[in-house]
Amino acid sequence: PPRASPECSSSKVRVVARIRPFLPSEIHGSHGKLAPCVSFSADQSADTTLHIKDSTTSREGYYKVDSCYGEDDEISGIFSKEVEPLIPALFQGKNATVFAYGATGSGKTYTMQGSEIHPGLMPLAMSRILALSERNNFQVAVAYYEVYMDRCYDLLESKGMEISVLEGNDGKIQLRGLSQVLVKTLADFNDVFVNGCLRRRVGQTGLNNTSSRSHGVLMVTVASLNRNTIFGKLNLIDLAGNEDNRRTGNEGVRLAESARINQDLFTLSNVISALSSNESRVPYRDSKLTRILQDSLGGTSRAVMIVCLNPRSYQEAAHTLIIAARTR
Ligand code: ADP
Ligand code: MG
Repeated sequence: PPRASPECSSSKVRVVARIRPFLPSEIHGSHGKLAPCVSFSADQSADTTLHIKDSTTSREGYYKVDSCYGEDDEISGIFSKEVEPLIPALFQGKNATVFAYGATGSGKTYTMQGSEIHPGLMPLAMSRILALSERNNFQVAVAYYEVYMDRCYDLLESKGMEISVLEGNDGKIQLRGLSQVLVKTLADFNDVFVNGCLRRRVGQTGLNNTSSRSHGVLMVTVASLNRNTIFGKLNLIDLAGNEDNRRTGNEGVRLAESARINQDLFTLSNVISALSSNESRVPYRDSKLTRILQDSLGGTSRAVMIVCLNPRSYQEAAHTLIIAARTR
């Protein structure tokens, strides 16, 4: 497996937090006593410290992140500071990964997918990639799939089909059976993307609420049309919500799903932590999720983890940040 080279500090994953605002429904039901339990301050060392405090029990905690965005920070600013800088390297054949991590309801899908009025990082990245592709004569293809219970399923043309994950002799990960759709314009992309998103949402209304119980992976590849072929790949991932089973009361299938999700997220944090401390063995093989990221996390790839936080829940924020802290 590819190793993080010691001199390459970019193999470290950048950890960025985003605290979502209180929702109108939350403000409405609060009778005016609504104080966020998460706050942050940037210090001189350019690190940002997150402070979480439980107003009822006075428990508190401090966590360092690379940067933090609050309720007034718009997605366009987060995009231009955190994601846009990863894009030019794709055209030099490098890979990158951006994932949203956090509890259910913390703003992961809003941040990654967004809506028609508030496009998220996925369509914003796409728009930038398309602009650069046209200028550099590159072809752009998208694939969208989900990882559920350690298996991958296509969300586009061969919908629902299971995809097998293989490693080529060159160390590159191949996703056999995955449909890749060529896109030339943002309208092309939106056609594909909206359908993929709908397929995820279909799951959400189904029996097992598979949508938020799966990791959604949008994979964008760029390929040069010139004589020397260059391939670059950006993975944009809406991770399944991490859960504290002592609190959710999950049973049966839900408990099994939840156990798998937590295991995936734990493995992911192990991989990131191994990369950031330059360990020679990175446990990519411990889950499908980390396996598919094997050539896009570490080495010359750059990655950003966006830790989404709900300002209402101390417990959730603490649980999320303890795992996130393992990656630094
Ligand atoms: P998750 O995907 O983590 O479960 P969602 O992205 O679905 O969470 O967000 C939960 C709710 O909060 C949604 O109603 C969403 O519209 C809203 N929301 C999340 N982040 C923001 C934000 N930054 N600004 C406004 N509303 C937000
Ligand atoms: Mg979601």
